[in-house]
Amino acid sequence: MSEFQLIANYFNQPSLTSVGDMPAELGIGDDCALLSLPDQQQLAISIDTLVADVHFPAEAAAEQIGYRALAVSVSDLAAMGAKPSWFTLALTLPESDRSWLAQFAKGLSQAANQFDIRLVGGDTTRGYLTISIQVHGLVDPSRAMLRSKAAVGDLIYVSGTLGDAAAALKYVKSQPNLPEFTSSVVSQLYQRFYRPEPRINLGQRLAALGVKCAIDISDGLLADLGHILEESAKADHSVGAKLDLAALPVSQALLSEVDNASAFNLALTGGDDYELCFTAPPQLAPQLSPLVEAGDITLIGKITAQPGIVDIYDQTIAVDQPGYQHF
Ligand code: ADP
Ligand code: MG
Repeated sequence: MSEFQLIANYFNQPSLTSVGDMPAELGIGDDCALLSLPDQQQLAISIDTLVADVHFPAEAAAEQIGYRALAVSVSDLAAMGAKPSWFTLALTLPESDRSWLAQFAKGLSQAANQFDIRLVGGDTTRGYLTISIQVHGLVDPSRAMLRSKAAVGDLIYVSGTLGDAAAALKYVKSQPNLPEFTSSVVSQLYQRFYRPEPRINLGQRLAALGVKCAIDISDGLLADLGHILEESAKADHSVGAKLDLAALPVSQALLSEVDNASAFNLALTGGDDYELCFTAPPQLAPQLSPLVEAGDITLIGKITAQPGIVDIYDQTIAVDQPGYQHF
């Protein structure tokens, strides 16, 4: 199979190229894709690279790898409050294995349809299994949520539950694919790792409500909240955070898997959950309360003027390990 056949057979397919409601003037096949932006919309772009055995086990099912690769990339659009529109795929493969490619394209297409994002181009090369996905999204110019916008007095919220994907890692590393007979807790944890739910609708809803500051949690709550504090301190004076550790949302699955102390430790430091962490002035609390009541978001603390992250007793939060860093 030539490179061009490979692209035609697996990627230049309607299940990937006719997805969503944002057409491409020109998609796969030429030197560039051509895209027209709607009036008064800003383009939000982000790229993520997933390397086999660093971000996922090389032995994982190709369908899971394809789905997860697009989901984690789209999460950055959610964090900005952008609506997904188009993506490109740079794929490096050790060999052209037909069944692997068919499964990978299937998972990718499931994710593309789930998130309404259309494949418009890419690059295909041979080498160690590596997947780079660049996602494009649309956002109202005044609405994008930035890391740098946290202000003293803001309330801090997170979406969903934290720590599940980190708890899943232990299993995923020793057994990349879900064993056939396993508990529902373990299968829920695998699901959290391989099928993250980027909070696309929530991100757009928050941006529309006037939330100005958000990040997606890919490295762990402490690390990612730390990024908000650093960027906001650069933009204004120093800021810190006070967290109510007892309020951290953790799933029943996680609590039944590990003891309470470990669950909260994973919720603070575990990466890969792809939930949103955002800050909002207290005046927005009434508009946010339906989301709190529905269990979509949880109030976990507030932004203070003291640098650092402390608990409600003003003790610096000590954890076993900080968020994952590649270098
Ligand atoms: P060029 O040599 O101009 O870079 P390529 O031969 O790499 O072009 O790619 C041919 C066309 O196929 C381009 O439109 C490119 O965007 C698209 N393409 C290549 N690889 C992929 C892929 N993995 N997924 C989607 N489109 C791809
Ligand atoms: Mg090329």
